[in-house]
Amino acid sequence: MGNNWKTRTKLVHEGIRRSQYGEVAEALFLTQGFVYDSAEQAEARFIEAGDDEFIYARYGNPTVRMFEDRIAAIEGAEDAFATASGMAAVNAALMSTLRAGDHLVSARALFGSCLYIVEEILPRFGVEVTLVDGTDLDQWQAAIRPGTKAVFFETLSNPTLELIDIKSVSDLARDVGATVIVDNVFATPIYSRAFELGAEVVVYSTTKHIDGQGRCLGGVVLGTRDYIRKTLEPYLKHTGGAMSPFNAWVMLKGLETLDLRVRAATASAAALADALAGHPKLARVIFPHLPSHPQHRLAKAQMAAGGTMLSIDVKGGQTAAFKVLNALKIFTISNNLGDAKSIVTHPATTTHQRLGEDQRSALGITPGLIRISVGIEDTADLLADLTQALDRA
Ligand SMILES: *Cc1c(COP(=O)(O)O)cnc(C)c1O
Repeated sequence: MGNNWKTRTKLVHEGIRRSQYGEVAEALFLTQGFVYDSAEQAEARFIEAGDDEFIYARYGNPTVRMFEDRIAAIEGAEDAFATASGMAAVNAALMSTLRAGDHLVSARALFGSCLYIVEEILPRFGVEVTLVDGTDLDQWQAAIRPGTKAVFFETLSNPTLELIDIKSVSDLARDVGATVIVDNVFATPIYSRAFELGAEVVVYSTTKHIDGQGRCLGGVVLGTRDYIRKTLEPYLKHTGGAMSPFNAWVMLKGLETLDLRVRAATASAAALADALAGHPKLARVIFPHLPSHPQHRLAKAQMAAGGTMLSIDVKGGQTAAFKVLNALKIFTISNNLGDAKSIVTHPATTTHQRLGEDQRSALGITPGLIRISVGIEDTADLLADLTQALDRA
C-alpha cells in the first residue's frame, strides 16, 4: 500500500483489508477462531500461515492485523504485534528478549508497573538489572558492559518530563550488541523519531493517545520482522497477551484522528506552558520546549514538538496542589493521559505513592507537582480554568 503517503493519509487508509462486502469502515472480525475448507488446508496453515491466513485470535486476527499494519507504517517499523495492554507489551518485549544470566540496564524514572517488572520480576528469573539516572550519559556508559543484553527506558519520563538522549544511549548499547527497547508513550507516534535515532524495539500503551478517548486498554510492540516474528511472537502467542479484535477496532478508529488530536493538544500544551511560566503561584512549569527546561536543546533536537503533557509545581506543597485540583472545572482528576479530555494527576499521592518520599524526591516528584495531560478542548477555556484554580491556591 501507499508507501509514499504522509502520516495523516496512512492513519486513515494504511493496512485496511476489505472483505467481499466492500465496507467503508474497517470490519470488526469478532471471532476467536477460523474455519478451514479442508483438513489439508488446516494442516498447511499450521505448517505455515500466509499473510492473510489466520488460525486463532491469540496468534492474530484480521482486525488486529489491520491495526498492526497501520501503526507499523506510521512508526516506520517492519512489523508490529498488538497486545492486551501497554504493560503486556512492555512485559513481552523484556521477557522475550532476556533470559537467566543476562544483564539489563534501565533508566530509574519509569512508569510504576514498568519499574515493578525490571526491579521485581526480571531478577526472579535470574536477570541482573542495573538502574541508572537516565539523563546522565556517564551513568549509562558506566553501566553498559560486554554481556549487557538490553537497555530499557522511557524516552520522555513521567511525570517530570525528563528526556533520554535516544541516539547517545543507542550508540553505547550498539557497541556491546545490546537491544535498545524504548517505551515511547509520552513522545506519541506523531512526534516519535525513536527508530531513526537508534531504538530497535518501540513500545506503546495504545490506551493513551492512540485510543485517545478513554475507552480501551491496549499496547503494541514494534520492530524488525525478524524480532517481532522470531523473538516476540512465540512468547506472546503462547502466553496470551493478545489484543482483542474489538479493542483493535477501537484503536484503528483512534488512529484515524491521532494526528489531529495530538497536534491540537500539543498546541494547547505549549500555549499553557508559555502562559503559566513565571506565574507567582508556581515554583516550576515543566514542558520540554520551554527554554527553562533543563534539557531544552535536546528536547528541540529530539522532539518535533513539546508534546501533550506538562507538569506544574504549585508553591505551598500538597495543600495548595489539592486546592488547585479541586477548583478545576474542565480538567478532570484522573490518572489516564493522552485523552481528548484534559486530565490532572497528583503523582505524589496516586501514581507514585508506592515509591515513598525519598525515592519521590530523588525523582523530582514534589508534593506540589501536578501532571497535566492536555486534551482537545478550547485553549482559552483551558487557560481560564487553570488561572481561576491557581487563584485559589
Ligand atoms: C500507561 C503507561 C504504561 C502502561 O500501559 P497500560 O495500557 O496501562 O497497561 C506503560 N508505560 C507508560 C509510559 C505509560 O504511560
